[in-house]
Order: sequence, then structure tokens, then C-alpha cells
Amino acid sequence: MSRFMSGRFASLESYVPGEQPKTMQYVKLNTNESPFAPSQGVLDAIAEQSGLLQLYSDPDATNLVRQAAQVFGVKESQILMTNGSDEILNFAFMAFGDGEHPFVFPSLSYGFYPVFAKVNSIPYREIPLIEDFSINPADYHHAGGNIVIANPNAPTGLTLSLKEIEGILQTNPDHVVVIDEAYVDFGGETAIPLVDKYENLIVTRTFSKSYSMAGARLGFGIANEALIADMNTIKFSTNPYNVNRMTMAAGTAALTENDYYMNNCRTIVAVREWTKQELAQMGFTMTDSKANFIFARHPKVDGETLYKKLKERGILVRHFSREDIKDYNRITVGTKQQMEAFLAQTKAILQEEQ
Ligand code: PMP
Repeated sequence: MSRFMSGRFASLESYVPGEQPKTMQYVKLNTNESPFAPSQGVLDAIAEQSGLLQLYSDPDATNLVRQAAQVFGVKESQILMTNGSDEILNFAFMAFGDGEHPFVFPSLSYGFYPVFAKVNSIPYREIPLIEDFSINPADYHHAGGNIVIANPNAPTGLTLSLKEIEGILQTNPDHVVVIDEAYVDFGGETAIPLVDKYENLIVTRTFSKSYSMAGARLGFGIANEALIADMNTIKFSTNPYNVNRMTMAAGTAALTENDYYMNNCRTIVAVREWTKQELAQMGFTMTDSKANFIFARHPKVDGETLYKKLKERGILVRHFSREDIKDYNRITVGTKQQMEAFLAQTKAILQEEQ
């Protein structure tokens, strides 16, 4: 840290993204990307916009918002487009967090939540999961602060029902409840239909997983008009052109080809279930993940060993060294072929280890 860095950030530990390998070609199952390329319409839209880069992008993302409003069945004024869903999450922390009330979230969830709290000088409170890694919704009733919950949660893939989410919304009427639906298209139940009913609900979404656009950086929030307006105040006070022209056009095109992407999600779900069965036969135990990843451990091989040995064999998965999950690996669901390669290498490693 230089002597010029603000003292506010003296103890800030920034978010550590999953590895993006620069040299070797891995079977890349470590950052929950889609294994499928974007549709042709998306590629064409990007090419078209690239010749117009001398012009700023539309700060209101008008066409994209219009298309999203249609697909998700909400009003245009209920949507805010952002640079990945990380940005809408940060806007929610900035707009609704204060120095007195903690932001509340599960102790095992998306690792960026505590970082958003710290960088914005907002206190936070982490609620432990119950033993099987699931969230006890009652722990979030009358939480005393804003709440953020990933549904499905990461890295477990476990879900809450809409009824359970409604219970959280109803018992926290004076605080916002952010439901992070980054993985909802792989088997969760969306809370979007609840935004008209609860003025304190924000649903966040991303194009990074189900829409094959992690590299384009596009996400959005859906909430009632007043919350969207508040987050727009933050957006226009930080980066009005937060979504670039190519990404904006790509997102619009992707939503007009929604069927292609939803079909890819069905394929990923089928491959997930098949892979889980294969892993179970090898002795792995897993959470009942409804996301595009599997969270698995084996009683005979520790998580880090498996991660390292897979890496040596050209398969990249995600291992977290924190104590409560160090036995596990999070494996993104790729194509059937990629999962076959992963399973074959895993089998060979197990044989070596036993
Ligand atoms: N929420 C969760 C739960 C995630 O796992 C991720 C992906 N790392 C994000 C949000 C952010 O994704 P993006 O910024 O790519 O939309």
C-alpha cells in the first residue's frame, strides 16, 4: 500500500476472482461460465456496433431495457442495466447501506458481499448456514438490516423457495432484500413476480452464466421504480456509460434469442444430473445443486489434492481453502464431453490415491 492510499481502505481485502489461465489450455470448470458460445445474432450485433465506437453508449440502455422488460414481464422503469451483476450489487450496497445497520448475508455465499460492504464502509453480519449448508430462512426474519441472499446460493447451489423468500421480505419491511439470481436459470425459482408486491425487493441477474456472455460484462437489477431510481442516482454519479455499446447490443440480441439460451440451460441441467450420478458412483457426496456447478467431496481424497491433481491433468476446478469447505471442490458443469474428461481424470486420481 502506498502512503497515499486512504486509511479507509487500510484493511480492505479485495475480492479474489477464480483463475483465468493465460497459457495452458485447460478444460475450464472453475468460474461457472457457459460452455456454449453466444448465438450468431449476438456476434452480428457486436460486429455492427464495433464500427460505432467513436460514439458513447446509450446511458439509459433503452433498447436493451425494452427487450428485457418484455422477456421478464416487468415495466421498463423497473430495470437497471449494469456492468455485470457485480455492479448492480455494488449499487445496492452503496444506495441502501449506511454506517449503522449491517448488511446481512450467509457466512458461506458469494465472496464479494463482504468486500462490497467493506469498500463502502458498511458494517455487515454473516449468518452461519445450518449443518447441511442450507440457509435457514427464519434466521433472516427481523434481521435488523438490509439482506443479500444468492438463490441458488454459491458455492452450494442450494435454493430457497419463493414462500421462504416472501417470509424474509415480510419480516423486514424497513430494509431492502436483494435476491441474487445469478444461477436461477439452472433450476431455481425466480422472485421477479414478487417485485410488484414487495417494495423492498431487488432481484439481480447476470448474462454471465445462462446467456454465455461472461466476457461482455452485463447484469441488471429488477425492483420497484423507486429503488431503481435510487440505484440510478448512484449509477449517474459514478459511471453513466456503465454498459458499453457492444455489450448493450449483444444483450438485446441475446434476449431476442432467448430460446437458444434457455435450451442451453436445459442441456446443462441434464449434464449436471448425469455428472452427479457418476460422481455418486465413485463415492462423492454432493449438495443438491440447482446451479451450473456441482459442490462435491470425496471421503478418501482431500479437496486440495484433488484440485491440484486435476490441474496437473489439464482440468481446472475451483477449490476454496477456507476451513469449513476445504474438503470440497466446486465444479462448473460444462459440455458432456468436458464432463467425461473430468470424470475420467477424477477416476484415475482416485485409483492412484487409494
Ligand atoms: N452473484 C454470484 C452468486 C456469482 O457467483 C457471480 C459470479 N462470480 C456474480 C454474482 C457476478 O457475476 P457477474 O458480475 O459476472 O454478473
